[in-house]
Amino acid sequence: MPKTLRLILGDQLNQSHSWFEEKSDDHIYLMAEMRQETDYVNHHVQKVLAFFDSMRNFASEIETQGHQMRYFKLDDPKNPQDLEKLIQQLVNDEGIEKFEYQLPDEYRLDEQLRSICKNLKISTDSVDSEHFLTKRAFLEEFFKGKKTYLMESFYREMRKKYDILMDGKEPVEGKWNFDHENRSALKDSKLLKKPKAHPKDLSGLLEMLEKSGVKTIGKVDAENFPWPTSRKECLEVLDHFCKNLLIHFGDYQDALTTWDAFLFHSRLSFAMNSKMLSPLEVVQKVESYWEGHRKEISISQVEGFIRQIIGWREYMRGVYWAKMPDYAEMNFFGHDRKLPDWFWTGKTKMKCLSEAIGQSLDLAYAHHIQRLMVTGNFALLAGIHPDEIDKWYLGIYIDAIEWVEITNTRGMSQFADGGIVGTKPYVSSANYIKKQGNYCDHCAYNHKEKVGDKACPFNSLYWHFYERNREKLEKNPRIGMAYRTLDKLKNKQEILEQAESYLSNINEL
Ligand SMILES: Cc1cc2nc3c(=O)[nH]c(=O)nc-3n(C[C@H](O)[C@H](O)[C@H](O)COP(=O)(O)OP(=O)(O)OC[C@H]3O[C@@H](n4cnc5c(N)ncnc54)[C@H](O)[C@@H]3O)c2cc1C
Ligand code: SF4
Repeated sequence: MPKTLRLILGDQLNQSHSWFEEKSDDHIYLMAEMRQETDYVNHHVQKVLAFFDSMRNFASEIETQGHQMRYFKLDDPKNPQDLEKLIQQLVNDEGIEKFEYQLPDEYRLDEQLRSICKNLKISTDSVDSEHFLTKRAFLEEFFKGKKTYLMESFYREMRKKYDILMDGKEPVEGKWNFDHENRSALKDSKLLKKPKAHPKDLSGLLEMLEKSGVKTIGKVDAENFPWPTSRKECLEVLDHFCKNLLIHFGDYQDALTTWDAFLFHSRLSFAMNSKMLSPLEVVQKVESYWEGHRKEISISQVEGFIRQIIGWREYMRGVYWAKMPDYAEMNFFGHDRKLPDWFWTGKTKMKCLSEAIGQSLDLAYAHHIQRLMVTGNFALLAGIHPDEIDKWYLGIYIDAIEWVEITNTRGMSQFADGGIVGTKPYVSSANYIKKQGNYCDHCAYNHKEKVGDKACPFNSLYWHFYERNREKLEKNPRIGMAYRTLDKLKNKQEILEQAESYLSNINEL
């Protein structure tokens, strides 16, 4: 057996990978904390801490199992902070004859590893990361020749293929999708449960980041770091979700409220994106918990959750590999405005945005509807350049890795891909935000007004968005109605002028 160096990236913490089935002194595992990863965007401090702590826990577990691990901390003098040099260094020092890596999820790393392999003078190989339900190219083949990739057809295929929520060939309880039942606002704060936290002291790790000069955004209480950073902790979060949150997941999936940041969301995205949990084990555990509790938990809760994982998550990955690298350049509307300064502080008079941004800075987390219908909605209505928006989303969230961030941001939220992911842009006026919760009740602006000092900016910007993109959108059959309403507005000109004035003073909103 040739002496083999096996690279494990920071988001490849999959203990069940077949690499670990066999123990051999000829297999040397390599993990490293690298400046190229801390610096490719300005990350939230909790995100960097979560990744490094999870990597360290993973490395020590693998070592305890008897595997050969070489782990390089960020401040290790032997860490050259250059992946190619590091690999070459180990090849020379340890007499390595073969280099292997698991296929990365990011295009940037895929390119880098291919190039490193070309330069190495030993044999090289790549293997699957054994995490996803589909191979990289599956989605592209599934939708061959189609302009729009309909998520729902992909999702049904996954349900059938993996026999999830199926009753023979039919969906369990007769319907594939219960989305229409999953749109309630939360009226009673007593239903809320405390998140499952795993407070641990990461102040030493934080000190290392600070001493090394790593630039981060956001806040952290490093002595009580709350995110799960080991497989055991991730499994506990999953268990907590099944026992306490699943019962209302679907009902309040789209709710917006000042009462709580997490509501009935699972907080499992980091656990899955780092691969400490596999998507299949998460959905199978949730399905089997539901099967044992069918009297209390309705199908709409569990179907809503499972669709996010085997549907949206898997689908976004397929879109990423089908469309990169061009996807990262797409800007369908030609938007070019800078992100307002208050995206980095949360200091805006708009309550919905101050809540969603403030919470993101405090917790490195916002749930899907905050990302899509508050921050994303505002950015799209205001015509912010997708590069600016991507940079923000890629940095701020604990779960942000490009394959799932960019497809959600440029695709689902900004329609910058011109309709690959979505059939129409996700935009709304204040109506939607008001309907979903209590933000508008605590806002300096009036959700009912379109013009005047107190008029909610979403209202005029909504019509401004449609007016300025008429040529691109009017013929879309799903949007025609909006144009008929716009053209009937008595004070259309005044509304458009109000929007112009808000856009000229965007930093003051
Ligand atoms: C603009 C924008 C940017 C986003 N960026 C990211 C990102 O960088 N990383 C990320 O993991 N998710 C991203 N999402 C998707 C989603 O918002 C998060 O996965 C979710 O909020 C994570 O919280 P949770 O684990 O509590 O999710 P839950 O609400 O409990 O959902 C369960 C799981 O479903 C999956 N999921 C749900 N929606 C999506 C989706 N649209 N795409 C992919 N997976 C989904 C996640 O793995 C999540 O953990 C983004 C969404 C938008 C609109
Ligand atoms: S009034 Fe407008 S800005 Fe204020 S919270 Fe409601 S939607 Fe947001």
